[in-house]
Amino acid sequence: MRLSVVVPCFNEEHGLADLHARLSAVLPEVTPDFEVVLVDDGSSDQTLTRMRELAAADAHIRYVALSRNFGKESAMLAGLAQADGDVVAIMDADLQHPPELLAQMIELLGKGFDQVVARRDRKGEGRLRSLSSKTYYKMMNRLVDVRLRDGEGDYRVMTRRAVEALLSLGEYNRFSKGLFAWIGFDTAVIDYQNVQRSTGTTKWTFRKLLNYGIDGVVSFNNKPLRLAVYIGLIVTLLAFAYAGYVIIDVLASGVDAPGYATLMVGIAGLGGLQLLFLGIVGEYVGRIYYEAKRRPHFLVKETSGPAPVPVTVVLGRDHEAG
Ligand code: UDP
Ligand code: MG
Repeated sequence: MRLSVVVPCFNEEHGLADLHARLSAVLPEVTPDFEVVLVDDGSSDQTLTRMRELAAADAHIRYVALSRNFGKESAMLAGLAQADGDVVAIMDADLQHPPELLAQMIELLGKGFDQVVARRDRKGEGRLRSLSSKTYYKMMNRLVDVRLRDGEGDYRVMTRRAVEALLSLGEYNRFSKGLFAWIGFDTAVIDYQNVQRSTGTTKWTFRKLLNYGIDGVVSFNNKPLRLAVYIGLIVTLLAFAYAGYVIIDVLASGVDAPGYATLMVGIAGLGGLQLLFLGIVGEYVGRIYYEAKRRPHFLVKETSGPAPVPVTVVLGRDHEAG
């Protein structure tokens, strides 16, 4: 069995040596035939220099450097396209995904699963953040068709066919939590305790999290649009009922002027609702716009080996090389 470990790295210059040490301690135990594919996601620090040094010193290490920061999703994709193992693992560079779990995960994979996910608890995390995550997952699971679980991140091992399945999803807007679930196959879960980042800082800000959350909701299906249709219908029915009431009221007791408050509430409420749903429609149109450009997901600046094939989007169909 050949094992590939894909590690997306963005400004991780201080963490790479530790990561290398930890991986070198555990991987040879799992299989002698392994590779580590480091992806430099356009870091502005010395990450790429560290990668060159590691690749020169250790034949198990390969790297791909992207031409700029494309985001973790694209960096993972670049790594998956490059990895050639029968079993592929994805993990973060900051050691928040303990490499020691890999042996256990790969063993489980051997029992007939196609994906094994490591699920973290929320120890050491802010109250607000865990509460908002919990609420988010509850809401998400109502809206999307795939099942998403709290704490299941990108740390996972996959069989070759699961990787191929992921690579065949050529969409530009990649919400990988959802994609991992979408491809299906039998998935096993193991739990581990949340670990703090070893060095550097997290790339998540509140705004990024919020945007990521919205991405998740609209990147899977058109249920939010359905919601717009339903609410629009209900409001229209209410308006008709109210119109009927007003007409009968005028016929019965004549015209009287008051009604300013009702009018204002109606205008403001409906205005807000219309803007909200226009926004939702806009989200989908924006996505179509990005998909229609058919741009590659990433561009490679430098590799330690043969360049990976950029995955390009061919409207709705599987990806084609080149
Ligand atoms: N990462 C990346 N590109 C980015 C942002 C992050 O490749 O634009 C990598 C980062 O180097 C790390 C992993 O993705 O290996 C997870 O990032 P981070 O630790 O900031 O996220 P968190 O663990 O806080 O969710
Ligand atoms: Mg992290």
